[in-house]
Amino acid sequence: MSISSLRRAALASSALSFVFVGAAIAQDAVPQDAAPPARESTPFTLETDQPRTAEQLAMQFDKADLSIKVMPETKTIDAVAVLDFTATAPLAAVVVELDTLLTVSSVQVDGRELPTDGWSNPEGRMTIPLAEPLAAGGTVSVRIAYAGAPRVAPRAPWDGGFVWATTADGKPWIATAVQGEGCDLFWPCIDHPLAEPARVDLHITVPSDLSSPSNGRFLGTVDHGDGWTTWNWSAAHPNTYAIALNIGPYEERTVQYQSRFGNTFPLTYWHLDSDDPAKVDALFAEFTPMMDFYEATVGPYPFGDEKMGVVETPHLGMEHQTINAYGNEYKLDGRGFDWLLHHELSHEWFGNQLTNRNADDMWLHEGLGSYMQPLYDRWLNGEAWMESSLVGQRKGLRNRFPVVSGSEKTEDQVYDGAIGPGNDIYSKGSLIAHSLRMLIGDEAFFRSVTRLVYGTPDPRPGQFQPRNGTTREFLSIVNEETDQDLEWFFDGYLYQAALPDLRQIREGDELALEWVTGSGDAFPMPVEVEIDGRRQTVAMTGGRGRIASPAGAHVLIDPDNKVLRRLEHIEVWRASGGRGG
Ligand SMILES: [Zn+2]
Repeated sequence: MSISSLRRAALASSALSFVFVGAAIAQDAVPQDAAPPARESTPFTLETDQPRTAEQLAMQFDKADLSIKVMPETKTIDAVAVLDFTATAPLAAVVVELDTLLTVSSVQVDGRELPTDGWSNPEGRMTIPLAEPLAAGGTVSVRIAYAGAPRVAPRAPWDGGFVWATTADGKPWIATAVQGEGCDLFWPCIDHPLAEPARVDLHITVPSDLSSPSNGRFLGTVDHGDGWTTWNWSAAHPNTYAIALNIGPYEERTVQYQSRFGNTFPLTYWHLDSDDPAKVDALFAEFTPMMDFYEATVGPYPFGDEKMGVVETPHLGMEHQTINAYGNEYKLDGRGFDWLLHHELSHEWFGNQLTNRNADDMWLHEGLGSYMQPLYDRWLNGEAWMESSLVGQRKGLRNRFPVVSGSEKTEDQVYDGAIGPGNDIYSKGSLIAHSLRMLIGDEAFFRSVTRLVYGTPDPRPGQFQPRNGTTREFLSIVNEETDQDLEWFFDGYLYQAALPDLRQIREGDELALEWVTGSGDAFPMPVEVEIDGRRQTVAMTGGRGRIASPAGAHVLIDPDNKVLRRLEHIEVWRASGGRGG
């Protein structure tokens, strides 16, 4: 998702003023029913990607079977989750996360009902001691019945939960977006990127005049004849925050896509039935060429045995695996494609197929994902459009914290620009990827990306599974592909807040160049220099170089903007209040 810490700060202040306005109105209003006590998810629940317990480290998540009835009128859910685990080490208790806003009415272990004191969920981390500890290899099935009013998203997708909207013609339009808080806002799970269930089956019951597209393969509907219909779906290896409910008066548009890898799968768009058909047509026409770009650039669509799905949502967007959220309202921006659709689709490769091992490596999702839009500008319209897009990203960099810190982080610690890289994981990540591509060339760059995403340079449909990766792993792949040690590149760009600075000192008829990085380590990044129109490459061995440059000659450093570096004119502009990116 596209988030900027600036935007988050602005939203926080506007939310604050809304509270004050609300209080002023409440004082003047005639008291009606007593307001319910303020309810909020625990701070633990609102974080995601926190360290797992010893029990969770010993639990392999085989399957989650989720039956969720969604009641628009009361903004509540009534749900049963059946969770299957295999112990990978001796296991005395099952530990999952579930928001305490939801009331658990029943817990069964392997079909046996537990007394109410047979489990506890004090902070949103639910512990279910087992009567007999499991040995490694043993399996356990836990059934949890729960209900209530789930967290309402204060501002989806940046501050997430349920979105209970209505369409212009007054019909319920409901979505979930929980990237920042995690799956435990509405189903019991292990809220950690390394705890993906091998399969999630969904049985979503909604009013029969609404549709409920969701993750994975469609397994049909069951009309209960009482005004409620259940929509059945099954998803393999879903990213934990990617499970999403989407409910509304949707119409469906599907085309069978013929992949360049030989397989065929559906591209489906669920849009509101009230949308302008011409706008629907135009967006839907973008699906096939976007898919072909990604398959040509990165590799086979990772979920070709399910579908590519997009659903129109009341919030801007989110990378929900095989059911991407689209809420950009068909806005045109002159680039010839919908950037939001393209960005969210990138996450099927960068986020869902490749998932970071920890949020500290989130730039692998957002930076590589954000580089795909300038590359698509190039794919469609040529180099100038890519460069224009990269310049737009360049103007938004903050450089206050490193893109990667090197130690484990929660997602909030990464996204909050006051304490972490924030928006730099998007634009700076993209520009770093571009500099890497310019340095090592297309063949090594794209082979490295493909290996990172699939674990192999030659992925074939059906022959790979979603995987977890890290920045260090990406470095070692790049080193293998280039037969060089590019640690200086990764350290200088990703692990330092400051951008590498190319210092220039005139010494007689020569120009002396020196790279200065945040760490002070050598940064042997070659750079092209144009002296009075004649272009040369300075090798910058050891981070230093010299080039003949007669007095009065016009010097242009890096004429093609291949190298991300400190640019004083952007700093001056930002200091004057300029904002970009
Ligand atoms: Zn994103």
